[in-house]
Amino acid sequence: QKKEWAKLVNEKSLSSDGQEVELAANIGTPKDVKGVLANGGEGVGLYRTEFLYMGRTELPTEEEQFKAYKEVLESMEGKPVVVRTLDIGGDKELPYLNLPKEMNPFLGFRAIRLCLEEQDIFRTQLRALLRASTYGNLKIMFLMIATLAEFREAKAILEEEKAALVKNGTEVNENIELGIMVEIPSTAVLADIFAKEVDFFSIGTNDLIQYTMAADRMNEQVSYLYQPYNPAILRLIDNVIQAAHKNGKWAGMCGEMAGDPIAIPILLGLGLDEFSMSATSILPARTQLRGISKEEAASYREEILSMGTAEEVVEFVKEKFMK
Ligand code: PEP
Ligand code: MG
Repeated sequence: QKKEWAKLVNEKSLSSDGQEVELAANIGTPKDVKGVLANGGEGVGLYRTEFLYMGRTELPTEEEQFKAYKEVLESMEGKPVVVRTLDIGGDKELPYLNLPKEMNPFLGFRAIRLCLEEQDIFRTQLRALLRASTYGNLKIMFLMIATLAEFREAKAILEEEKAALVKNGTEVNENIELGIMVEIPSTAVLADIFAKEVDFFSIGTNDLIQYTMAADRMNEQVSYLYQPYNPAILRLIDNVIQAAHKNGKWAGMCGEMAGDPIAIPILLGLGLDEFSMSATSILPARTQLRGISKEEAASYREEILSMGTAEEVVEFVKEKFMK
């Protein structure tokens, strides 16, 4: 089977009826890029930058970050690289920030909420990204966006930093795509409004599922509620993809679900443009896609979205696509 997969390393990601999607990889450090290319990744759909901040005693400098971002962009050789801004808080702690203990860390002061408050940290990261932007195909993504106001504020800060760099004579790419992760139900519901202002969406199902089902993604006791195929989740995903396409934008997914063989036929049918997964899932996914007609998958959209349970969805997918 591995041999069969390997043949597809340099091939496009096509459905059986010739519809193309992008299969990208999630990475945590510049070292991961080698594995992305070796597995035929067409881009990086999620660069989790928080690893730059973890396992140390102080914040990384702008220069350290610049080097890491530049390295990833250069080694991806012009392929798209979506860099997500800092995700600290929730399950990811940084002892040196001395953040207060919270009752509900996943509902608390994390990610963009922290970035907008601790602006020095955020601005340093954005400067490093902007300076690196001329070394490849950078896209920037804000995360844990719950309101339009947060997106606008974060974007304004990015624009300020860009203007300051340009004024200083630093070269920056003027056309960096700016997107958001959709991890919070409010944003998935209002996707049509967001789609007018963002360049792209990347659906973060790991968090979107926990927030929609109110089931902590780390808690074994409620893991039965953590249901990727629950039609409520699928309707939110559908809403995001439709909103993107109606506004000429693209929609990707960087949660675990994007590489899941049960989810792939559904997501293809809903029109997802970019699937970002662990590098080792890319070739199996490319192989699977070759056996699925996108037109057929799309024809089941209404039927799947009107189901009542995750079990029904799974049974349906197995019946239609896995026989
Ligand atoms: C997600 O929430 O789906 C995601 C990709 O981010 P993380 O797993 O880093 O929270
Ligand atoms: Mg997340």
